[in-house]
Parts: sequence; C-alpha cells; structure tokens
Amino acid sequence: MTTKSFHPPQRTLMGPGPSDVNPRILEAMSRPTIGHLDPVFVAMMDEMKELLKYAFQTQNELTMPVSAPGSAGMETCFVNLVEPGDKVIVCQNGVFGGRMKENVERCGGTAVMVEDDWGKAVDPNKVEEALKANPDAKIVAFVHAETSTGAQSDAKTLTEIAHRHDCLTIVDAVTSLGGTPLRVDDWAIDAIYSGTQKCLSCTPGLSPVSFSERALEKIRKRSSKVQSWFLDLNLVMGYWGGAGKRAYHHTAPINALYGLHEALVILKEEGLENAWARHAKHHQALRAGLEAMGLNFVVHAEERLPQLNAVTIPEGVDDAAVRTTLLKDYSLEIGAGLGVMAGKVWRIGLMGHACNARNVYLCLGALDDVLGRVKAPVEHGVALAAAQQVLAG
Ligand SMILES: *Cc1c(COP(=O)(O)O)cnc(C)c1O
Repeated sequence: MTTKSFHPPQRTLMGPGPSDVNPRILEAMSRPTIGHLDPVFVAMMDEMKELLKYAFQTQNELTMPVSAPGSAGMETCFVNLVEPGDKVIVCQNGVFGGRMKENVERCGGTAVMVEDDWGKAVDPNKVEEALKANPDAKIVAFVHAETSTGAQSDAKTLTEIAHRHDCLTIVDAVTSLGGTPLRVDDWAIDAIYSGTQKCLSCTPGLSPVSFSERALEKIRKRSSKVQSWFLDLNLVMGYWGGAGKRAYHHTAPINALYGLHEALVILKEEGLENAWARHAKHHQALRAGLEAMGLNFVVHAEERLPQLNAVTIPEGVDDAAVRTTLLKDYSLEIGAGLGVMAGKVWRIGLMGHACNARNVYLCLGALDDVLGRVKAPVEHGVALAAAQQVLAG
C-alpha cells in the first residue's frame, strides 16, 4: 500500500471558524522558510506589529501574535495578569466565559461569576453590582463577541465600569477583530486577545494579543513567577520586544506568520471601517433571507454580531442530517449549536473573506433546497429575493 498525499476538498466555510482562507494568504504561506532570526524576517515581524496595532486600533507597544491558537491568547492574558489570590469578575453569557472561569481558577485566583442568559449581551448593571459587592476585585473579564450565540457585548461601557472600580479588563476579541467595531485605545481595554481563523480569514494557530501600560505595570509588580514558561510575557518580550534586538525564545511559526502578515495587509488595503461595513451589509442580506424563510434569530437585533448568525432550528428538523447534506451536496459548512444550544441552533458565519454576496446566496439557496427536501415548515423561494433586495439597496 502506498500512502498518498492528503488533498482536502474545496469547502465553503460558513461556520464559527475557521473561515475561508483568502488564496493570497495560502500563497504567502508557501513562500520559502527562512531563519526566524534572519534580519529580513525580523523586519517582517516589526511590520506585523504595526499592522496588528492598526487592526486593534492601539498604540500599545506590546502587541504581537502568540504562537498558538486563540485559546493560548486567552491563557496568555490570564496567566500573566492573575496572581494567586486575585479576585476576578468573569462575565458569562455563552461557552467562552466558562473557559475564562477555568483559567482564573487554574491561576489560583477566585472567579466571581456574572451570568447572563445565552444569546444576551453581558448586562453592565450586573457587572456594576458585582464590583460594588466585591471591592477587592482586580480584573473584569468578558467576551466581546460570543461565538457560541452570536451576541455582542458593549466592551466600551464594560471597560469604563471596570476602571471606575480600579479593575483592569481582559477582553476576548477572537471573533470580533476585523468583523465588528473594536477600538482598543479609545475604549481603554487593558488586555485583549484574538485569533487568526475568524474575521482575519487566516489559517488557525496564531493569537494576536495586546497589553496596555496599566496591564504591564501589574505584570511587572507580580510577586510570583508566571506559572507558564512558554506564555510568560517577560520572556516572550525578549523575542518580540523592541528595537530589532531579538533573543531566542521559541522558533516562531515562520510560514504561519507570513500568512498573518498577508491577512493584515489585506485588512489594511480594504480599511478597517470598510471591513466592518462589509460585514454589517452582508449580515443584513443574510438576515433578510433567513427571516423571509421564517427562521428566527437567537439574539435580539441590537445585540447581534454581523459575523455570527445563530438561528433556531425549525421544529422537527434533524440538525445533523441537514448539516451533513449541506456538506455533501453543496460542500458548505455551517456550525452546530454549542453547549446548551447543541441541537437547537445553527450558527452561520460570515467572517472575513467568506463574507460576500456569493456566500449569502449560496447559503440561502442551499438551505431553501435542503429544508424543502426534509419538508421543514419554512417558506420556499423567497429567501434569495429578500437578500438581493438588501444587497441592491
Ligand atoms: C474560537 C474562539 C476561541 C478559541 O480560539 P481557538 O483558536 O479555537 O483556540 C476563543 N474565544 C472565542 C470567542 C472564540 O470564538
């Protein structure tokens, strides 16, 4: 038997991530691997930091990609900022807030949970109450774009409240970066992490992070060592830190970084505001189509993320069977529900490169067809026109 090369099929990725990768990025990643201390590579890293600052809308000097997926960016924030004994207010309105709690506890901190229903934004009043009840809290952590439900929280207001109570903020922007307005400096966010495979449309495996001077001050004043050697920012900074002087820390994922560089160049070429507007517009078109079919959104209109559209699965329809048919007959991937929403919702992503008119039509047409085959109680033959009306206007 000969073992053959792996050739994946060509899919359209409209789930919660990874999203379709722009071919320009794949091409960039296939360029020659050079040494990670090569001066040409180091110059590319410096440029990448500038591009990331633009994407995050920050002047934070410590802005760089962690060499691992979004979850590692999350851990980088928690292991560096949470010391044993620290009290952290953790907002949970979906899956990812639960992971923050786990992180706090593994750092030896105490998590004070502020819970909101899945599908709702984090309620700033509840956060204020929790801070009043816990004047010794040091940090407020929340998810800006909850990918498990499609709800967007008000990061600016939550950060204002946290600062009024002398707390730093840790913000999960894995799904928001590049897809919906995010302004790290204007909103005075202290620590933020993202991912490459959602609205940046890059391959998975890197996590852009950014830390404010206030956050760095807390890290410098730590009385205990960061328990993770790999994610200890004091060490990572020796590699990513200032003025072209680089000390070996770990071998950077060279070609993956070429990909992220290209993704950020593409974002810069389009312009952040234009990218945000593109996501908003195509979301409206998809929404019009889905609602014309009679499908209902999980999240209230004002709190909806454009890049993650969660809709309730119609009565009597087999979730897995529909998704399997979409994959088999249309090579189209949409997302299943997570956690308490498993089997109850579909999550349709419109992220980055995948956020375009063709995909809106493809998804609506495919759903219309497949839901028709299983005799789902939806309106047929109306979704495409509804979407088209939005895109034309
Ligand atoms: C995808 C995601 C993560 C995790 O990122 P990975 O790259 O899968 O580790 C964290 N938070 C949110 C909100 C996400 O959507």
